[in-house]
Parts: sequence; C-alpha cells; structure tokens
Amino acid sequence: MSGTKYVYSFGGGSADGRTDMKNLLGGKGANLAEMANLGIPVPAGFTLTTEVCTYYDNHGKSYPGELEADVDAALAKTEKIMGTTFGDPSNPLLVSVRSGARSSMPGMMETVLNVGLCSATIPGLVAKTGNPRFVYDAYRRLIMMYSDVVMEKGGGIEPAEGQGIRQQLDRMLDEVKKSRGYASDAELTVDELKALVDRFKAKVKEVLGTDFPDDAREQLWGGIGAVFASWNGRRAVSYRRIEGIPDEWGTAVNVQAMVFGNMGDTSATGVAFTRNPATGDSKFYGEWLPNAQGEDVVAGIRTPNPLNEATKNEQNQHLPSLETAMPEVYRELHAIRDRLEQHYTDMQDIEFTIQEGRLWMLQTRTGKRTGTAALNMAMDMLAEGLIDERTAVTRVKPSQLDELLHPLIDPAAEKQVKALAKGLPAGPGGAVGKVVFTAADAVAWAKRGETVILVREETNPEDVEGMRAALGILTGRGGMTSHAALVARGWGKCCIVGAGTLEIDVHGKTITAGGITLKEGDQVTLNGTRGLVYAGALAMIDATENPRFQKFMALADAIRVMKVRTNADTPDDARQAIEFGAEGIGLFRTEHMFYGKGSEQPLFLLRKMIMSEGEAERRAALDELFPFVKHDMKATMEVMGSRPVTIRLLDPPLHEFVPNDREGRKKLADALKISASELDRRAEELHENNPMMGHRGVRLGVTFPEVSEMQFRAILEAAQELRKEGKACFPEIMVPVTCARSELDDQLALARKVHAEVCQKYGVEKVEHMYGTMIEIPRAALTADEMAKTAEFFSFGTNDLTQMTFGFSRDDIGGFLPSYLDRKILAVDPFQILDRDSVGVLVKTGIDRGRATRPKLKVGICGEHGGEPSSVEFCHMVGMDYVSCSPFRVPIARLAAAHAQITHPRT
Ligand code: PEP
Ligand code: MG
Repeated sequence: MSGTKYVYSFGGGSADGRTDMKNLLGGKGANLAEMANLGIPVPAGFTLTTEVCTYYDNHGKSYPGELEADVDAALAKTEKIMGTTFGDPSNPLLVSVRSGARSSMPGMMETVLNVGLCSATIPGLVAKTGNPRFVYDAYRRLIMMYSDVVMEKGGGIEPAEGQGIRQQLDRMLDEVKKSRGYASDAELTVDELKALVDRFKAKVKEVLGTDFPDDAREQLWGGIGAVFASWNGRRAVSYRRIEGIPDEWGTAVNVQAMVFGNMGDTSATGVAFTRNPATGDSKFYGEWLPNAQGEDVVAGIRTPNPLNEATKNEQNQHLPSLETAMPEVYRELHAIRDRLEQHYTDMQDIEFTIQEGRLWMLQTRTGKRTGTAALNMAMDMLAEGLIDERTAVTRVKPSQLDELLHPLIDPAAEKQVKALAKGLPAGPGGAVGKVVFTAADAVAWAKRGETVILVREETNPEDVEGMRAALGILTGRGGMTSHAALVARGWGKCCIVGAGTLEIDVHGKTITAGGITLKEGDQVTLNGTRGLVYAGALAMIDATENPRFQKFMALADAIRVMKVRTNADTPDDARQAIEFGAEGIGLFRTEHMFYGKGSEQPLFLLRKMIMSEGEAERRAALDELFPFVKHDMKATMEVMGSRPVTIRLLDPPLHEFVPNDREGRKKLADALKISASELDRRAEELHENNPMMGHRGVRLGVTFPEVSEMQFRAILEAAQELRKEGKACFPEIMVPVTCARSELDDQLALARKVHAEVCQKYGVEKVEHMYGTMIEIPRAALTADEMAKTAEFFSFGTNDLTQMTFGFSRDDIGGFLPSYLDRKILAVDPFQILDRDSVGVLVKTGIDRGRATRPKLKVGICGEHGGEPSSVEFCHMVGMDYVSCSPFRVPIARLAAAHAQITHPRT
C-alpha cells in the first residue's frame, strides 16, 4: 500500500474533499465535495483523483494496485446514501462517469450516463419505476454514449467523417422517428425503443467488432478508463494547446449516482448562471427542459425554456419558465443560487436536475463570462460589498480588455439595414468577415490572411480550431449555454447562436433567409451584442469610452507599481495611447517616419543619405533630412507633454530602404548626380547575407558618426524649442543594438559635442535629457554592469533578444514554428510570450548587474512582450520600472501590472 488516497467520496451532507482541492479532484469533483459540505442536495458519488490519471498515463494505462478496493469502498458508501445497489437486479444504482480537469474544458472531455444498465438490472428498474419507456430510453442513451466514448474513442478508433458510431446510431434513431412522423424523441414508444436498442447493439457489434458490455462493473471500469484515455485525445490536446493548459495536470473522474430529469413532467434538467454571463446583469439566468437529460440542454438539440420571467427573450418568450412551471423548486434553486454566490463570492455556472419534483445540484463552477460581463460583475459585486477592490481588479482578465475595446458595428450604418436573421447574443462586439462553413476552411482561409465568420448548424468540440481562427461564429441551433456559446464567450469572440430562421446548408455552402442567399466567401456582419446577422459588410467603430471601464482601470492603476508606456512614432498614435492611459513613450522608432502616409519626401532623402558615398555627400543629404526628423520628433514630444519620450536612434535594416523599382532608382541617381549603373553598384554594396546581424543600430552610428549627430541635434533642438515655447518635454536618447560599453561611450562623445553646440545656439546651459541603451543582444545583458557605467537607463528589446537567444530569425519563424508548436517541441511562441527560462534569465541578469553599478538605473521593456500579460508579470517580478507596448495593448498592460502586484507584491 502506498498510503495515497486515490478516491474521495461525497454526498449525504458531507465529503472527503473541499473546493480548494482542485488540483487533486479537478474543478468538478472539488466543487461537488464543497456543495455536499454546504448541505446542498448533491447526488452521492466519488472522485478518482488526477493522480490516478498521471499514474495511468505513466504506467501503460494501468491503475495503482489498491484502486479497485478503494472504488468498491466508495461505491458502497454511495449505495448506502442513495439506498440502491450497483448491479443489483431489483434495486439498481445507476451512475454517471464524467471527467473533470483542474480548469474547465467545456465540451472537450467525456461523459457517460446511465452506467449500470444491463440485462440483469433493466427488469428491476422497470419494476421499481413502473416506467419501462424511461428505462429503455436511458438504455439507448447509454449505448449511444458508451459506444462512442468508451468503445470507439477510448479504443483509439478514428472513423471516417460522418461515420462515427454515434452518428450512425443517431441516424438510425432519426429514421425511426421519421418513419413514424415523430418530431421528438419523447414520442417513441416502449416497443419502438426496445426494438431500437436491439438494433443499436447489433450495429455496435457490426461497426466496432465487439459486443456491447452487458455487465455493470465492466461498464463502470470501461467508463473510467475512457475518461482517463480522453485526456490525451485529439480534441482535449488541441484545446489545451490553445488555452495553455499543461499536459501534466491530468483529469479526475467523477462517478456519481444518476438522478433523472426525464422521468416525466415533474422532472426536468437545466443549466444556469447566477448572473447573466453575456452582460453581467445581476439576474439569475438560465435554461431548462422538462422531461430531459442534461446533455439535451448543452447539445442545443431542443430550444430550451427560460429559467424565469425576468430573463425571457425573443426566442423563448412563448415557452414556460421554471419560475411559473415549478414555483417551489424554483424558489429552492434561487436560494441555492444566493447561497453559492455568497459562498464563492463569484458568479457560478450551475447544472441541476429535478427528479419527480426533487431538486439535485450536479455541478457548480465559476462561470465563464464576456469581458463586458466580467467588468460589470466586478463593479456590481464591489458595490454590493461581496468583494473588495483588489478582488474586483482580479475579476477581469487582461486579455478580456481586448474585447471591451473591441470594434462595434457603426450604429448609423446598422440603422440603415434590415437584419437577415436574429439569434442569441452569445459573444459581444461586432465582426465582419467572409462566410465559411467548416472549421478546416476557417483555419485555411485565416492562414492566408482572410477574415472569416464560421457558420455551423451547431458547433461541437471538433470545431474548436476553426472557431479560434474565425473572427466571429454563427450557429443555427443551440442556446446561450451551448458549446459554441461557452467557448466563444471564454475567448471573448463575437458570436451568435441559435439563429433559427437561417437555413444553413453546410454541404451546399449557403445560408438563406428572407429570400437572400449568401455563398461561401460572401461578406456577413455580426452584432454579437444584440444577436443580429446582416448580409454584407457594415462599417465598424471603436467601442466608446465607458465610464465604468475608466473607474475599473483607476482601481487597477491604484494597485500597480509598474508604469505603462507605449511604442508610438506619430502624434496620432501618441494621442491614442494617452487615451488608453500611456504614461510615456518607451520606444519611438525613428525609422517609422519613413513608412506610410506623407513619408515620400523624407524617405527619398533617407535613401539619398544611404546611397551617398563619402562623408561630404552624406552630410549634404543629412542636412536636407534634418528638418523632417526634427519636426516629427517635436510633434510627438509635444503631444506627450510632461511624459517621458524614449527616442531611439535609427535602426533600419539598410537594404530595406534601397528602392527596387527602375523609376525610383533613376530619380535617386539623378539627385545624387550619378549614373544608374553607379547607383546599382552602391546598392549592391549594401547587400548583406544576414541583415538582422549586419550593419544596423549603433553600428551605423559608429561607421557614420554624422548620422548620429544629425539625430542628436534633432532631438535636442526639438526639446529646446518646446521648452522655449513654455512646454514640458523629457527626451530619453536610446542607442539600439549595442553589445559593448565602448559603443555607448563612442556615441556619447558625439552627443556631448552636439549638446554643447545646441546649448550655444539657443544660449542655454543645458538641454535636459537622458542617455541610455536598448539591451537586445545577450552580450549586452551579460555585461550590463559595464553598460550601466555609461547608460542612465536600459530598455530591453526582447524581440531581438529572443531572436538572438533562440537563434530564431524574427522574419523566418513562420517556416518552422507551427511544427514546433504542433509537436510540442515548444509550448508557446517565444516572440509572443517571454521565455522566462532563457530570455528571462538574461533580462534578470541584465537588471541585477546594471543596478549593481547604478542602483537607480531606470529599466523598461519595449519588445512586443511589453503588452502580453504573462510577460508583463515577469517584468514586474524582476523589478522593471515600466513596460512599453502598442497603444491598443496599454490597458491590457495596466491591468496585467496590477494583477502582478496582487500576486507578487513589490514595494
Ligand atoms: C526589440 O528588438 O525588441 C525592439 C523593440 O526593437 P525592434 O523591434 O525595432 O528591433
Ligand atoms: Mg530591436
């Protein structure tokens, strides 16, 4: 005996586990235990821990020796509480077998219901319930689920598209219904069901080659094994990769006494959220179906009824609510809702079943929500006194802010058009894209740069990657708790479900409504906030300023200790960033003034400078360029006012600026008064085998000091002129791509000389500025103690630092990174999420060594990682003063910095 406890029981008013044991019991198991402890009615059962999953994976799909006895003991406890016995011919206990990982993976994992029904127990259950129809319906569901989950998927069988055993059985069921003219499963008679289960079993044998197991214990262990095996199933692995869930976590298995929502009109099943997960409204919100089993609601096969009168919508207003149909049960459920919210102090996503008028809770977990809902709930719960300010700040994920700042359909444009169809608003914001009909197409089209809307009759877990690739999702069936709705909400995607009036022809690749037909590739617009679908592309606008959002961000700002700056190179970007809360510019890339609108003239002059030969020719070109550079720097600094602006010296890969077209070259040759062939020769000379490690950054200033001089002068004169105009301004001059202190000293000597000249020109003693460097080469990080002798600040350029640490070319990573991620050679793209084990070590070393020399050294980051939440957390942990990121990511970085301070307090 190892002494490890592998099985935890719950039910009958107590439990072995608790809610804080999620790592061991999985989210579902831990919360079932907690509800049992709270005295909430939960069908009894037990949880096999995630450690069994790990053991199973590491020991060739076998179990710890003592597991069987532990399961027997737990089963005996369950039997005692429920008053029934597993496998007993006269009074049989049926159980569900479900997976439950540490964090919820909606629709990704497996469930088998009604385990324990077999020829030995069926007659007993019929006699006990007096309801043979119910028993045979439960049995046909068992066969459908078990043959799919345990025999086919668990057996590693990959059927052809559309030929899965479950689909084949579904078709048989549909045929029977069709031949009898039935609209719903509930109309099938006992005899029809009996005949159907015999045919099902024959089909299972024919397709899968084995008999359907007719022994309760065999079914139980088959179910347990299939759940553990499903952890490494294709869908689960793909979901984990997208969500960044480690493979090692494993899943727990919950075995729980069945309760039945399909025992007649006083039985029902439902799912609910303690508050509205799409809007955050503090109203109990959910769906239920009379005389049904839980999977019927989640699968989106029938349009579910509304939970109460207050939350009815256009789709379900004609259906009775639970509040009116079963008022007493509803009151009990509402009281449980209040109890759970008070206990968990957060919105809960619950599942319940009513068996012959008696309420049972099957699940509670913290509910997924849209960014809008997260914000509203956080602020409401704060006002209600349920949570404090710090907790409120943690309730919105930085990535959800993306969605709050999401584009919306321009209301003016929307007013002009009639909606093609209306569905349920499952994920907010607006989305315009081209219609595609399969997940594979969504992935393929997105890969080639198209923006797509994935349209499905209903989505299932196989569609996950396509849903990820699509900008928006539209389904014809399903409710707010259907798979598509849950997944989209979790990702903050624009999503409409249950647009029932749309005729979706997935094979013919068309959607039709109101006489309009859209084909694959046609544009469609979704309003995910209102559930409206429009043909064609409507104009979009940015989400307007939301005062609640401002208030929430102010709470976050009060907590964080790290500043947030932006990477911006134009007055417009700078203004946008200030609106988003930027406290300075962390990276002004001087070369960006040569791209885009209005750049023709300066670009021409830059080219002239690059193609010049000899100092005199170059200085002449630089003199012409100077006023443009100074003007741009001044304009952006003026917008930033008293906020610091880090201006980086030119870091252009020179060859990128050589014109390739004949006309451009001729114009340049004329300006330089040289022949076309001479220009070609000079261009040829600029060719480099590896420009990323070539003549760039500080190297340009070392070989052509006049290029740096011009920039120093532009910065200092711009600053001095602003001051003279009575405006504040704080430039920080930053030298890129350095690897040695001597490079910094070399450039500093030039800067000092120019500074003296500028002072003389304006008759001042000093033009306030700082002088520092980027740290983006490993050697610079490793010799940071030396670099800090000259540099007054460091800014980590983690784009180049990642490139040089991994040896992965920034520009060529697309060729191999997807394979690396697919094959799990790398867990994530290191250019998106800072690799703490390597780049992180260099960053930390650089900071520690730099500050050993200069304790007050100002340190920031300006690589792309500066706007990515996990990287921001790391920057906080290693003591950076600020992060800098693109304007749209500024709020994300502000919130991530606040979260970092809450989890890793820094003084
Ligand atoms: C960096 O290398 O991280 C950086 C910010 O500079 P650039 O991306 O311009 O090379
Ligand atoms: Mg760089």
